Amino acid sequence: MSQAIVFAETGGPETLRLQDVQVGQPGPGQARIRHAAIGVNFIDTYYRSGLYPLSLPSGLGSEAAGVVEAVGEGVAWLRPGDRVAYASGPLGAYATERLIAAEHLVKLPEGVSDDTAACAMLQGMTVEYLVQRVFPVQPGQTVLWHAAAGGVGQIALQWLSAMGVHVIATVGSPAKAEIARALGAAHVILYREENVALRVREITGGKGVPVVFDSVGKDTFEASLDSLGPRGVMVTFGNASGPVPAVSPLELTRRGSLFLTRPRLGDYIATRAELEASSGALLSRLRDGTIKLAPSRAYPLAEAARAHRDLEARQTTGSIILRP
Ligand code: NDP
Repeated sequence: MSQAIVFAETGGPETLRLQDVQVGQPGPGQARIRHAAIGVNFIDTYYRSGLYPLSLPSGLGSEAAGVVEAVGEGVAWLRPGDRVAYASGPLGAYATERLIAAEHLVKLPEGVSDDTAACAMLQGMTVEYLVQRVFPVQPGQTVLWHAAAGGVGQIALQWLSAMGVHVIATVGSPAKAEIARALGAAHVILYREENVALRVREITGGKGVPVVFDSVGKDTFEASLDSLGPRGVMVTFGNASGPVPAVSPLELTRRGSLFLTRPRLGDYIATRAELEASSGALLSRLRDGTIKLAPSRAYPLAEAARAHRDLEARQTTGSIILRP
């Protein structure tokens, strides 16, 4: 019998329950995957809490790595035994095995472990689309990246510093500052103690940065706008501290003709070609060692609620996985 985390009502981590489930045979276009490692992402907490609407009861989780057990009609490019990973498709990755449309899967190359893939697929493709397609960052530029010791943040630091980009990193504690420095941050701001916009102006000689990548949301939004130079780009891509309230377009004018975008990964890997290009860019960096990842913590699948508690309490660094 397979097992999966299911929740019947939105709320705190205690809503997450491990249940026996029947998985069945893959239908046309599907594959059945036995998971080896499951990625935990902050977005999972938004679905669980009800911030992002969904119909209940529901499974949870968008990312995992594992082995193909069976394929349905029309899936000629995959075979039982292939190692695969995914970071899109319907929720339901918090499970020992599942069915999923094969179009969401990518084959894993030698040299990228299941744990690494489960840590990196969602957060790493997020970095790819943000720094290469939302705002194509150029070597030598200085950018501001919030929560840089987190899962997405640690990949971003390694990706950008390998390109010769100067990253001003914000973090929530001195221990996280050490991590950010070790991964290539040019400057680190303790944003719970320091004035972010003032420090950014000091560091940039008053100019401000051309782009801010802000996944913290409510608590950092104003400081992020104030850190941008004229015609700068505000990329707000998460709500770790809560959603950003409504903003008047005139606020963007007043601060120097700023641009504001609120992107999500799904829209940047919407076609098979985009998914292959984005995952390919990530997997090549994992294989050649440009990006190195180890899960900060691995929890048993049955303890998904504890993983959520630790993530929301800002106790984690880097990526987290669940072990089926
Ligand atoms: P992280 O590992 O980065 O965890 C979130 C971090 O946010 C915390 O560790 C903490 O770091 C910081 N934080 C600041 N304020 C709070 C708060 N009030 N409560 C909790 N944490 C806070 O998570 P992920 O790497 O999984 O995701 C990072 C962000 O990126 C999330 O907001 C996520 O939703 C977003 N995201 C968006 C995507 C998109 O396409 N739009 C795709 C993937 C992720 P510190 O202690 O240093 O402050």
